[in-house]
Amino acid sequence: MKLTVDNVSRAFGGVYAVRDVSLTVPSGELRAIIGPNGAGKSTLFALIGGQLAADHGTVALDGQPVERLPAHRRARHGIGVVFQAARTFPGLTALENVMVGAHATTRAGFLTAALRLPRHHREERLIRERALTCLDRTGLADWAHRPAEELPLGQQRALQLARALCGRPRLLLLDEPASGLRAAEREHLATLITGLRAEGLTILLVEHDVAFVMRLADRVTVLDLGRVIAEGTPAEVRADPRVIAAYLGP
Ligand code: ADP
Ligand code: MG
Repeated sequence: MKLTVDNVSRAFGGVYAVRDVSLTVPSGELRAIIGPNGAGKSTLFALIGGQLAADHGTVALDGQPVERLPAHRRARHGIGVVFQAARTFPGLTALENVMVGAHATTRAGFLTAALRLPRHHREERLIRERALTCLDRTGLADWAHRPAEELPLGQQRALQLARALCGRPRLLLLDEPASGLRAAEREHLATLITGLRAEGLTILLVEHDVAFVMRLADRVTVLDLGRVIAEGTPAEVRADPRVIAAYLGP
């Protein structure tokens, strides 16, 4: 799914977190978004996902404007988000956490489940199977029936990803998915992301570890103080004097 962000801004208390940002990510591209702390990366994701409303500007998915839609309606259009701060539902098992992700995007969703309509049972079984597949894909099969809060940090991060994948996104926003992961877990994540890209998913990846993103990304957008200061292939961005000055260091 193609993403078009046009001239989007958002200020907090008069200070811009994101300012006049435009970017176009063609379908199937893996785009890295990098920039120093406070550059506006997470805010940009929230403006795309609909967790925050923009002060002005437009967001379109395959040419369809979505900037007026709330987050859950954008999710139905195919946006999946893995937030920077882990948000598992405590008291639910890992499997149940992932099933919530699937419910969020089925038409029947929570209402059918709550009312226990006859079609609920069939749908529930399908969702459960889908959720188990997503857990398996993110290396969490063995954790399926454990309470989410008992999972180690790395597995909690993987659980966020499993939940997002279970919603069958066509545009996936990953906000620092490798943070807190050990080297082996990072490698597993890199392989998974590469696989998702190969399936044609459009991916936006925010990551602190520049080497990690440079290896995976087709193109890189650099934010600084809420603005786009550079965009290009990893090699172009690495050589850009503005990027070196603002971020990468001499
Ligand atoms: P990044 O993810 O690149 O580190 P953020 O998008 O989290 O940056 O933050 C960008 C700027 O916006 C920062 O200065 C931050 O303090 C500010 N900011 C982000 N969210 C809020 C908020 N909800 N209220 C006030 N300021 C915010
Ligand atoms: Mg952030």
